[in-house]
Amino acid sequence: MYYRRNGDTISVRLSIGEDIVTSLLELGEKENIGFAQVNGIGAVSRATVGFYNLDKGEYMPKTFDEPMEIVSLLGNMTRKDGKPYLHLHASFSGEDCNVVGGHLTEAIIGVTAEIFVNIIDGEMNRRVHPVTGINIFDI
Ligand code: ZN
Repeated sequence: MYYRRNGDTISVRLSIGEDIVTSLLELGEKENIGFAQVNGIGAVSRATVGFYNLDKGEYMPKTFDEPMEIVSLLGNMTRKDGKPYLHLHASFSGEDCNVVGGHLTEAIIGVTAEIFVNIIDGEMNRRVHPVTGINIFDI
C-alpha cells in the first residue's frame, strides 16, 4: 500500500495481492481516521461480497475467484470499540462486462487499486441496531 495525504484527502494505491479491506483498516489505524468517505476503482483477482439476509440476521457471502474490474467501490470508515471500522459496497465486472456486487468483505488486488479516502471532521462511532442486528451510525 502506497498513499499520500493532501489536506483531508488521502490517495491510496494498492499492489497485486493486497486486500482492500485489510489495507484500509491499516490506513485508518496509521492515520488515526475517525470518520471518512471511501471511493475507488481498480481491478481484483478475487472478491467476496454479500447480501444481508434480515430474516437470518447474517450476511450471505459469495466469492468470485476471477479477474474483474472494480466498477465502483463506495463506503465509509468509522470507529467501533475504538478501532477503525469499514462499511464498503462494491460492484465488479468480468470479461463479459456483467456486473456483480454487494457488501464487500474481501477484495484481492489483481492489477491495482486507486482509492480516495476523504476525511470528515470528528469521529463517527457504531452501535448495534436492536432490530436488524447490524452496526449502524451512532447518531
Ligand atoms: Zn453493507
